[in-house]
Amino acid sequence: MSQYPGQYAQGPPGGYGQPNPGMPPISMHNGQPLPGGGQFGGLMKPVVQNGPPAGPPGGFAGPQGDILGASRPGGPMPFPNRGPVPQGQMGAPRPMNPNLGPAPGTNQMTSQMGNMSISGPPRPPGPGQMGGIPIRGPGPGMMSPMGGSSSVSGPPSSMGAPPASMIGSPLMGGTQSSMGGPPSSMGGPPSSIGGPGNFRPPGNVGAPPGNFGTPPGSMAGPPSSMGGPTIGFGASPSSMGGPTTGFGAPPSTMGGPPSSLGGPQGSFSSPSSGYSHPGVSQGPPGAFTPPVLGQGFAPPSTMASGIRPPMAGPPMMGGPPGQMGMDRQTPTSLAGQPPNMSASMGGYGPPQPGQHTPGFQPVSSQGFQPMPPHAPVAGYPGAPPQQYNQPGYSAGMSGPTTGMQPGMQSSLQPPAQKKLDPDQMPSPIQVIEDDKRNRSGVFSSGGKGQVPPLVTTQFITQDQGNCNPVFMRSTMYNVPCTSDMLKNSHIPFSLSVSPFAKLQPEENPPPIVNLGELGPVRCKRCKAYMNPNMMFIDGGRRFQCVFCGAATDVPDQYFAHLDHTGRRIDSYDRPELCLGSYEFVATKDYCKNGTLPNAPAFIFMIDVSYNAVKCGLVNLICERLKKDILVNLPRETGAEESEIHVGFVTYSKEIHFYNVKGTLAQPQMLVVSDLADVFVPLLDGFLVKLSESEAVIDSLLSQIPQMFVDSRETEVVLGPVIQAGLDALKSADRSGKLYIFHTSLPIGEAPGKLANRDDRKLLGTDKEKTILSPQCKFYSQLGTDCVAVGCSVDIFFFPNSYCDVATISDICRLTSGNLYKYSYFQADLDGDRFMEDLKNNVQSQRAFDAIVRIRTSQGIRPVDFLGNFYMSNTTDVEMCAIDSNQALAVEIKHDDKLSEQDGAYIQVATLFTSVSGQRRLRVHNQALNCCSQLADLFRNCELDTLVNYMSKLAIRNILNKSPRETREHIMNEVAQILACYRKNCASPSSAGQLILPECMKLLPLYGNCVIKNDGIQGGQEISTDDRSYLMHLINSMDVKSSCAFFYPRLIPLHTLEPTGTDMPTALRCSAERLQDNGVYLLENGVSMFMWIGHKVDPDWIQKMFGVQSAAQIDIDKFRLLELENDVSHRVRQVVQMVRAQRNRYMKLTIVRQRDELERWFNHFLVEDKSQNGSSSYVDFLCHIHKEIRTLLS
Ligand SMILES: [Zn+2]
Repeated sequence: MSQYPGQYAQGPPGGYGQPNPGMPPISMHNGQPLPGGGQFGGLMKPVVQNGPPAGPPGGFAGPQGDILGASRPGGPMPFPNRGPVPQGQMGAPRPMNPNLGPAPGTNQMTSQMGNMSISGPPRPPGPGQMGGIPIRGPGPGMMSPMGGSSSVSGPPSSMGAPPASMIGSPLMGGTQSSMGGPPSSMGGPPSSIGGPGNFRPPGNVGAPPGNFGTPPGSMAGPPSSMGGPTIGFGASPSSMGGPTTGFGAPPSTMGGPPSSLGGPQGSFSSPSSGYSHPGVSQGPPGAFTPPVLGQGFAPPSTMASGIRPPMAGPPMMGGPPGQMGMDRQTPTSLAGQPPNMSASMGGYGPPQPGQHTPGFQPVSSQGFQPMPPHAPVAGYPGAPPQQYNQPGYSAGMSGPTTGMQPGMQSSLQPPAQKKLDPDQMPSPIQVIEDDKRNRSGVFSSGGKGQVPPLVTTQFITQDQGNCNPVFMRSTMYNVPCTSDMLKNSHIPFSLSVSPFAKLQPEENPPPIVNLGELGPVRCKRCKAYMNPNMMFIDGGRRFQCVFCGAATDVPDQYFAHLDHTGRRIDSYDRPELCLGSYEFVATKDYCKNGTLPNAPAFIFMIDVSYNAVKCGLVNLICERLKKDILVNLPRETGAEESEIHVGFVTYSKEIHFYNVKGTLAQPQMLVVSDLADVFVPLLDGFLVKLSESEAVIDSLLSQIPQMFVDSRETEVVLGPVIQAGLDALKSADRSGKLYIFHTSLPIGEAPGKLANRDDRKLLGTDKEKTILSPQCKFYSQLGTDCVAVGCSVDIFFFPNSYCDVATISDICRLTSGNLYKYSYFQADLDGDRFMEDLKNNVQSQRAFDAIVRIRTSQGIRPVDFLGNFYMSNTTDVEMCAIDSNQALAVEIKHDDKLSEQDGAYIQVATLFTSVSGQRRLRVHNQALNCCSQLADLFRNCELDTLVNYMSKLAIRNILNKSPRETREHIMNEVAQILACYRKNCASPSSAGQLILPECMKLLPLYGNCVIKNDGIQGGQEISTDDRSYLMHLINSMDVKSSCAFFYPRLIPLHTLEPTGTDMPTALRCSAERLQDNGVYLLENGVSMFMWIGHKVDPDWIQKMFGVQSAAQIDIDKFRLLELENDVSHRVRQVVQMVRAQRNRYMKLTIVRQRDELERWFNHFLVEDKSQNGSSSYVDFLCHIHKEIRTLLS
C-alpha cells in the first residue's frame, strides 16, 4: 500500500474520519428534523441557539436537519464532544432553512437584511425576537453600548505605525521588476530549458492539457535549443526535430545508474533524536586528517552534458585566498569596554502611543563585552587583490595571496596596531555582487552536489534532474561520509524546503503526471517516488531504489525497454524520469477515507467591534474584498475561474453567519450568540463559488458597513470564531483557510478568553519565555483540531494595544497560517498596505491539507523539523495550507555511513489538495555529493541556508532557554565551525591569524546579525507582541527572506542615474556609509525606511517630495508623490522593485537625520554597535577570533 493511506489511518483522532464529500455529517446522527424555515419571517434577524437537536453533527445540521437528514448517507460525526441539546431549546426559532429551495422566501430574506441594515449595530437577541425560546446568549443589558472611546487608544500621533507591522507583498503574478528580462546568457546554452510545448509526454495519460505549460517566452532560445536528443545528452542542439525529446537534454550524470545501492536497508524508520532534537551537536572537533590542499578541489563532474552554466563552477572554488590581517593581540583588547548602550525606542519601530518607553537598558546580558573602538586590532597590509577563477572578481578583503590555500579562505594577517578598517573585513555586498556577476543567467541543475547561485542572484534554473533551488536548498552540497566528520565540522546538515515556491516567469512549473488508476510508481520498501535516479534492471522489468536499494517490479503499464546504455527509452518523455520536480495525480488511496476531496474554501471573518469600525477597517474590507481579493482567488493554470468556495462571517461578541446562496435576492444573516459551544447554523448557502453568488455577495458587502456603523461593542471574542470556521469547513468536507481580521485582545466571555498579561520588562531576561509562550492551551488545542480538518488560520491583527500575539499565533503556527500585524491601523493611511498583503496572500495559496515527507539515502535521515506546521509523528510534516512563501527547515543526521561513490539523495514529497480540489503529489529531488575531506565540505557550503536554519533554531531556543544561552549557542557554533576549518583545512600560519573559509567568510557577520535581531534578541525596546510577531515570521521564512531580514539592504537614492532602470548596488549596513547629503533606502522585507541627510540638495527634496526642505515633509501621513520628474520617477521605480521582491508590502517610513526616529533607524544598521548593547561587526569578529584561539589551544 502506499504510504499515505497508512498515514491517514494513523492520523490525529478525528482528523481523517470525516464523512465523504457531499455527505454532510449531519445526517449521520439522526439529527432530529428541525422545524422548517419560515419561523423567522418577522424577526429582525434570526437568532440561532446553540445545540441543534442532535448533538455534534446535529449542531450543524440543526437548522437544515429536515433537509439534509434522510438523503445523506450516515457516518460517524466528527463532533464527538458536542452533547445533545435539550429539545426545548431547539423548539421554535430556527433560521430559515436555506435548503428549502425557493421556499426561503426572497421577500423574507430581503426584509431581514433590510431590517438589519437600518437597525444599527447588531442587537442581542431578545426574547421577543426569539419567539419565546430560551436564550442563552447575552441579554440586551450585556450589550449596552460602551463608551467606546474610553477603552480605545487613539490613533498614533506623530510616530506613525510601527515599522514592525509593515508588511508588504509583491503582487502575485506580476512580473518581478527586478527580474527584468532574461539574462543575456539564457539564450546560450544549447539545450536551455525545454519549452513546455516541447514536452510530449506519451506517458502522461490523462494529464490535463496545459500542464506542460506555457512556453516561457523570454526563455525560448533558438529553436535548436529546445528538445534534446532522445538518448544521451549533451547532444547537439540541432536536434530540434528529435522525436521524443523535450525538457532539454538531460545531463550525463543522469544516465549512470547509482553505482552502489547495496547499503543497509530499512534503517530509515527509526528516528532516534526525533522532533525535539537540538540542532547542532557540540562535540569537540575530532582528530581529522587535514585535507591535502589542492586535492579534491575540482568541482564535481556535473557538467558532462553539453550544457554549461555561465561559469565553470561555484566562485568559491579554486583560486588563491584573499587574506586579511588581524592583530594577534586582538583577544586581549576585548576586555573592558563599558557597554552602556541601550535603546529607548518604544515598540517595534518608533515609539507609539500607549507604548511605554523603557529607557536605556544595561548591556549586561550580552555574552561578551564589546571591544573599544580604538582597539589595536588591525590594519591590513596592502596586498594584491584576491584571485578567483572568475574574471572580474576582486575581493575587498585583499591581503597577501599566499598561494597555499587555494581560494577557499580568507585570513586576517597580523597587522600593525591600528584600528580595524571595516573595509578590510569580509563584505556581504562584495560577496553578493561577485555572485551576481559570475552566476547570473542560467543555472543547470543537472550536476550532483552543485552549489546553486546565491538567493540574491537573479538566475533561471534549468531543471535537469535536480530541483530548482527555490524549492530546496542545503547548507552543504558535499555531505561528510560519516557522522563524526559532520559533528566535527559543527556545520548543521539542513535543508530549507519551500515546496511551492514562486517560480520566475521564464521557468516552467513542475509538470503534472497522471498515471491514471496506476497512481504514482514507488519503491516497494521505502515508498520513494519514481525519480531520475532510480536504476532500471532486468531489461526494464524492475527498478532499484536509489534510497534504499530495494528492487521493485515495474508495473506492466509502466514498462519500457532499455536502450544500450541501460536507460529507458522513454526517459525524456516522462518528467519523473528526467526532471528534479514534477507532480503526480494521486489516486483515491491518497485521500482521506479513500474519497477524492472537494475544492478548498476560504472563510473571511471580520471583526465588527467598535475599534474595527472606527479605524475604517470594516468599511475598507467590504469595499475592496470583492474587487481586489475575490476576483483574484487562485486557480489552476489555464482554468477560467477559481473553484475555491468562499464564506463570510462577522463577529464581535456574537457571531453572524451569512447565507449568500446565489438563488437568494438578498443575503441572509444568522446570529449565534451563545458562544460556549458554538456551531454553524447553516450549511447550504454559506460556502459558495463567487461566480454563482456574485450579486448576493455584492449586496452583503455593501450592507455590512451600514449594519455595524454604530457598533459600540468593545469586547470581542476569538476562540468561538475560529471554532465556527473550523466547523464550517469540516461540515462542508473541505480543507481551506480562515482569514480573520481582528482588532483586540479577546476578552469577551467565551472559550479562548485571554487576560492581559503583558509585561514588557521581562523581554531580554531569563523570564521572557513566560510571556513569549502561550498563556493557555486553548489556541494550541484548537490548532490541533484545525490540522485534523485541513483548516489553516491566517490572522490579520489591527491592534491599538496588547493582544497577546504569543498565545493566539500558536494556532497560526500549527496550521501553517500567516500572521499580519498593523498597529494603530488607519484605513486611509494603511489600507493599501493591508490590501496588498491580503491580495498577495490569497493569490499565493497553492496547497491545502498537505503532508510533507522527506526521504533520504540510507545512512542519513531527517531528525528535526523547524517551521510553522504540525507533526503527530516523527516523519510527516502536516501543513494545512502551503503558500509560495512558506519554508520549513529540516536537519539531517547520519545513522550510518555514506560513500563518496554513491552520494546522498533527497526526495521531498508533498501530498496536497490543489486549488481546484485535485489530490496530487509534488516531488522534488536533489542529489548531493559526499566527501571524506573537510576541505570539500567547507568549499561547498551555502551560508544563507545555514543562517536560515540557525535563526529558526534560535526561535525554538528562545522558548526553552535563557537569552544568554540562545546567544551563546550561536556564538559557540560560529566559533566551532571556524575553528574546525582553521585546524583541519587552513595552511599552517601564525596563531594570531583569523582564517575564514571562502564560503563562510560572512559567518561571523551573519551570526552576529541573527543574535542582535529583534525577533531573536529583542529587548524592551520592542513590544511583546512585536517580538512574538517577528518570531512567527522568522519561523517560516525561506532563505531569500531570511537573508534580507538579517542583513538589511541599504540603497543610495541620491546617486541614482535618472535614466537607469536597474537596482543600484547596495551599501554595507553601517552609519559610516551614510553621507549628510545623501538619501538612502533601507529595507529588510518587513520594514522599509528612507533616510534623508540634513544636507541633501533642496532641489532633490523639491523634486521628490514637492516641498522646499526635508523639515516640511509630513512624515506621519507620508505617501510617495507621483511627481513628473526624473528623481521622483526613478525613486518610485526603485521602491516598487524592492517591494516586488518581498513577500509583504512594506510601509515606507521617512527618517530625517537627527530626528528622534533616527535612533530606531540605526537599529537596522547591523554592522554597527546597537543601542541595546549588541556588538558591532568588528567587535564580534574579534570576539570570535578569540574564541577560536581558545578552542584551538
Ligand atoms: Zn526504496
